[in-house]
Amino acid sequence: MDCKTYIVEHLDDELGPWSKLEYITIAKESHQAGSKFCLSSVPASLELPQTLRDAPGFIADAQSVETLYFDDKARVCLLDPSAKKELSPEDGEAFDVFLFGGILGDDPPRDRTSELRKKGFVGRRLGPKQMTTDTAVRVTRMIVQEMIPLEKIPYVDDPELRVDKHESTEMPFRYVMDEDGKPIMPEGMVDLIKKDTEKGFGDLF
Ligand code: SAM
Repeated sequence: MDCKTYIVEHLDDELGPWSKLEYITIAKESHQAGSKFCLSSVPASLELPQTLRDAPGFIADAQSVETLYFDDKARVCLLDPSAKKELSPEDGEAFDVFLFGGILGDDPPRDRTSELRKKGFVGRRLGPKQMTTDTAVRVTRMIVQEMIPLEKIPYVDDPELRVDKHESTEMPFRYVMDEDGKPIMPEGMVDLIKKDTEKGFGDLF
């Protein structure tokens, strides 16, 4: 497996607890796969959580992806839910940098990935359904590093999480399915979702 770079361009004002867990997971999994994870466009004013800074393989960069790859744009593939073409294992030969929007999922999706599309990167889709950012990176890695075609990856759509005896909440996203038929989520995410559900979701997605 050759080394790839996964870049999440920070597009939100803050970096909340959901993003923190997603990014720690992306860093760990990329590192295990012999690849790099970079969070780009991180303003100096944004204090990154220490657990994220300490995650193996985590790199933060104040520069935007446009600046980082100014002379090398053709190496970068934007994972874009509105792209016309699906990502395929062959794209692992054409590109070595894979770019994702650093945005929490929203329902219905607001297409904030358009902020990166406008910059002219080549785009590829991972199917029609919105994935969480860590899922999108996981699926990309499976396709371009493990050479598994998109349609062979098992998914769980819109999983229902039981919060307590009386209440459950649906996550309106696509996740990769593990061997037990469960959605793969970052460590600590189920507890965080339960805690936030008890508080009332508000504007969390
Ligand atoms: N609703 C969001 C938007 O405004 O575009 C999607 C955000 S999604 C949680 C975060 C990132 O994951 C996207 O910017 C994109 O890079 C990637 N992503 C998620 N689902 C995808 C899909 N089906 N195809 C391609 N990329 C996807």
